[in-house]
Amino acid sequence: MTITGGCHCGAIRYEADGEVLTHALCHCTDCRRHAGAPMVDWSIYRKEAVKVIAGEVRIYASSENGRRHFCANCGAGLFYTNYKILPGIIDIQSATYDDPDAVPPRAHIQVAERIAWMINVHLLPTFDRYPQPK
Ligand SMILES: [Zn+2]
Ligand SMILES: [Zn+2]
Repeated sequence: MTITGGCHCGAIRYEADGEVLTHALCHCTDCRRHAGAPMVDWSIYRKEAVKVIAGEVRIYASSENGRRHFCANCGAGLFYTNYKILPGIIDIQSATYDDPDAVPPRAHIQVAERIAWMINVHLLPTFDRYPQPK
């Protein structure tokens, strides 16, 4: 299965061709603060399976060996690599897939750092669009 995706502005496009090793929702503080979001979803691939086919990523060192690859124009986070703890691996922020339903997540990880209220977010009221004032 070939997965395609890209950043918000469209400058960076990528293709992932090969088996997804896993897909996890990460609750760690580094992901949260870099994304500005309560969690980040990561699909994990062998490095050679993922190719940037348009544009060029900027790389930010978010920890000693962690590298976050993002679009310098629109700021969208795309990839994570860490040659020490994840040799030969690249993680894709799978919410940037053209079809984000293509690979459902399989686990929550790093929940030791999860925001406490995230445990019950599935119980909140839902609205198809913004709620209308009464
Ligand atoms: Zn962009
Ligand atoms: Zn994380």
